[in-house]
Amino acid sequence: MLIITKNKLNLEELKQIRKFLSDKNVDVIPVENDMRHLFVVTGRCGELTRNEIRKHSLVSSIVEVGKPYKLSAKSSLSQKTKIKLGNSLTIGNKKIIIMAGPCSVESKNQILSTAQEIKKVGANILRGGAYKPRTAPYDFQGLGKIGLHFLKSAADEFGLPVITEVLDVRDIEIVAKYADIFQVGTRNMQNYPLLRELGRQRKPVLLKRGMWATYKEFLLAAEYILVGGNSQVILCERGIRTHVPETRFTLDLNIVAYLKHETHLPVFVDPSHGTGRSSMVRVMSRAAVAAGADGLLIEAHLDPGRSISDSDQAISIPELNKLISEVKLIAQAVNRH
Ligand code: PEP
Ligand code: MN
Repeated sequence: MLIITKNKLNLEELKQIRKFLSDKNVDVIPVENDMRHLFVVTGRCGELTRNEIRKHSLVSSIVEVGKPYKLSAKSSLSQKTKIKLGNSLTIGNKKIIIMAGPCSVESKNQILSTAQEIKKVGANILRGGAYKPRTAPYDFQGLGKIGLHFLKSAADEFGLPVITEVLDVRDIEIVAKYADIFQVGTRNMQNYPLLRELGRQRKPVLLKRGMWATYKEFLLAAEYILVGGNSQVILCERGIRTHVPETRFTLDLNIVAYLKHETHLPVFVDPSHGTGRSSMVRVMSRAAVAAGADGLLIEAHLDPGRSISDSDQAISIPELNKLISEVKLIAQAVNRH
């Protein structure tokens, strides 16, 4: 159950309602986000009836959620979450948002030319990893801080927002300086200290599904960010481990339909990691949008064969161009832009 308060409370009011609840042994976690104050009831209602809580002068309503993921559940919010980036871009609206760029930022020129090219073909947000979660410690680990700098300068040159992965709780501060959206990678989906800290930020977080994670585990991971007061969470399916060796992962498009039914949060799909094969990225992008995805995260490279990381799944700019034209047609068919 959620207890939603009237407007935003001042400190005195907050104290007053907390006392009202704790005096009667109602177990709650307070949440303050950019929209409202609320309390998540974690246990029993203590000695208060729902009616008594509802009648308190500072309470506007109570919402029965009936799901373990209290804040991401659809019933917890009366509208869909929309995330504004600057003046012209909204994630979670009718428009399908395309985030594109290389797996890794490789050099200043590479990311600058990529930004120019992806902008030309109509992508909306520049992606690129500066901190890379590589399977082997001997592989390229990303350019780090200088990579962030290259990424941001390239994006600024072409008026694009930036998404990049934050791998470690110790990097949040530096990544926040350069990124418009934090990306949490599949391996960190259950890194609770990282998620909690991102909950204290006031910037969007794109949370990738753990390659092993059930839907419930995924939504409960999002909950760690939401409960900290950061309401701007984007969920991203990026493929799971199955028995299929022919593709790198199995892109689980079921989850798109499921999440659209279960949550008010925007849902993205990453068909690049989800398939691991450049030849499948365009087709699965179409399928993702047809299934209801709010956007796509695509690995695109100026020279895919030479991509330092994930070269098998990187698509070329002409291929990205084709992908975007095709996705436009699918979007229209499902009443999106
Ligand atoms: C990436 O987007 O480059 C990445 C490392 O993704 P994932 O965490 O899904 O493997
Ligand atoms: Mn990658």
